[in-house]
Amino acid sequence: MENKVERIKNAIRDVPDFPKEGILFKDITPVLQNAELFALSVELFADVLKNTNIDVVAAVESRGFIFGAALALKLNKGFVPIRKPGKLPYKTFKETYELEYGTDALEIHQDAVKTGQKVVLIDDLLATGGTAVAAAQLIERCGGQIASICFLIELTFLEGIKKLEGYPVQTLIKF
Ligand code: AMP
Repeated sequence: MENKVERIKNAIRDVPDFPKEGILFKDITPVLQNAELFALSVELFADVLKNTNIDVVAAVESRGFIFGAALALKLNKGFVPIRKPGKLPYKTFKETYELEYGTDALEIHQDAVKTGQKVVLIDDLLATGGTAVAAAQLIERCGGQIASICFLIELTFLEGIKKLEGYPVQTLIKF
């Protein structure tokens, strides 16, 4: 397990000053390019969730979709997309959240999750936690229960985990 995590960690590429100055972007595309590492990362998600009761997998656009959809197929569960405003065609719920400068928002289809369904939420990376909190609130507004929130990467120095207090959180790789 340790060795598998290290192999994925070593493939993640640091891109300084993207998308703006001062941000060290964790680029997961080298992991996706390598069939073995991509499969391994989905396996690791499945592994940490092996004792979790799950009805459906939800993920945040766009990198969350890549891992979330692959995991949903592996677990034989349905998939729920959580998207930026104006992208989902049917009736939606919307949550706005704070960014470093300004605000952003996410939407979910109102019928995407049924009352009482246990939902695992997937994203590629936990930074400040704002995105994940908004996504979790959307799932709860649909009547879903958060079974787990899982990230491939956690930037521990940003302490986003504090915002997610009360939720079961699992992160595979920490920087
Ligand atoms: P946050 O809401 O601050 O936790 O930000 C998490 C979202 O922003 C995730 O969907 C990430 O894909 C993206 N993100 C934030 N910081 C980075 C980073 N340093 N490298 C790659 N993606 C990031």
